Amino acid sequence: MSSAERILVIDDDKVVVEIVSALAKAMGLNCDVTRSPESFFDLITPETSLILLDLVMPEMDGIEILRLLGERQCKARIVLMSGINIRVIETAKKLAQNLGLSVVGHLQKPFPLSQLKDILGANLVPEAPRAKEIPQIAIPDEQLLQAFERNEFVIYYQPQISMETGRVTGVEALSRWQHPELGLVFPDNFISRIETLDLMDRFCWITAERALNEVKQFVGPDGFLPRLAINVSVSSLRDLKFPDIFMNLAKKYDFPSERIVLEITESGLIEFSLALDVLTRLRMRNFQLSIDDFGTGYSMMKQLQNVPAIELKIDKTFVMNMHANHSDLVMVEKIIEMGHELDMEVIAEGVETEDQYNALRLRGCDGVQGYLFSRALPPAEMVRWIDTYRAQHVR
Ligand code: C2E
Ligand code: CA
Ligand code: CA
Repeated sequence: MSSAERILVIDDDKVVVEIVSALAKAMGLNCDVTRSPESFFDLITPETSLILLDLVMPEMDGIEILRLLGERQCKARIVLMSGINIRVIETAKKLAQNLGLSVVGHLQKPFPLSQLKDILGANLVPEAPRAKEIPQIAIPDEQLLQAFERNEFVIYYQPQISMETGRVTGVEALSRWQHPELGLVFPDNFISRIETLDLMDRFCWITAERALNEVKQFVGPDGFLPRLAINVSVSSLRDLKFPDIFMNLAKKYDFPSERIVLEITESGLIEFSLALDVLTRLRMRNFQLSIDDFGTGYSMMKQLQNVPAIELKIDKTFVMNMHANHSDLVMVEKIIEMGHELDMEVIAEGVETEDQYNALRLRGCDGVQGYLFSRALPPAEMVRWIDTYRAQHVR
């Protein structure tokens, strides 16, 4: 932590606020403290590098503050504090990560001073961003607009593998921006910007058209066409004409709609629950729906039965932590059970190790996707990868 960086603590408990600030000062760290949400936001500066946030406060709860921090694209590392159940803290942590925030730890009250000291100490050395591999970069609007004009968006493909047969069943299209100066820019740096600029529809059609065109290269010698999974933003789905436009595009590329999987995030669906008609129309045209990032939202369980989806995708945070964190393993098990009960296939993303693969297999997961098999690759490299993989997995 450089000398300019600051810690900010918000807790309605006077004792906690005093202890944290005293310890931080003793460790030579700059520390601001507040007991009210109002002044909290005034105290955030670009130098604020670590926030200690109490989840339960009378005026505004910590969840609300997390949302507001997410909206502000806050870059500070966050430590959650609470006297409540550890499960609640873990849920809040997921929510925060979902909002693009970086939660680096938690303190369950009453916590020993040593634990607080460890947390403050660990944060003396800035960590590389964890959840997202690529640091966020600020992109001026003009450059993003130019990217459309200059056709700078490209697609990388990641294979999806069946647990039962070991074969490649599909590929997920993951967008990248081939920036003239910055090189390859990852979607976390531009998708939300596109959304803000109200260009998501245009982006969606560019991506779909390119993917429908490129995926033909992955057809096997036996004529097997992998399913094409495309990420669709909820904002695109608000348009009642979306299913017909997509249908026409699929026809143009002579691509059967039943081989197209539209991935919609769980959190998006919650927001979207009023317009199930578009989803139903998509199903009527044989498009397949997949619920992405499953487990990161919270009120989905009830609605799930109404969504005509064929697949649930377990969010990679559960998969990656399932061996370290028992509650994540339980989530994985429950999601698989729930998906199967609703006659859906369950696919796990973010599978990086054999251990994870085996654990998922044991629990009846249907499909996997992750670095254990391959990262997302440009089309030509994906063709080579699929060829090599098929040669090794002929049955
Ligand atoms: P997502 O749909 O959840 O995609 C999975 C992300 O996890 C991808 O990140 C993928 O590269 C990464 N990943 C895959 N396997 C592993 C693994 O084993 N370990 C780890 N650590 N990561 C893995 P990516 O490509 O950066 O995409 C990020 C998100 O951006 C996607 O998350 C998706 O929500 C969004 N996105 C990407 N392309 C598009 C697009 O064309 N349209 C829309 N609307 N969203 C897109
Ligand atoms: Ca996805
Ligand atoms: Ca995900």
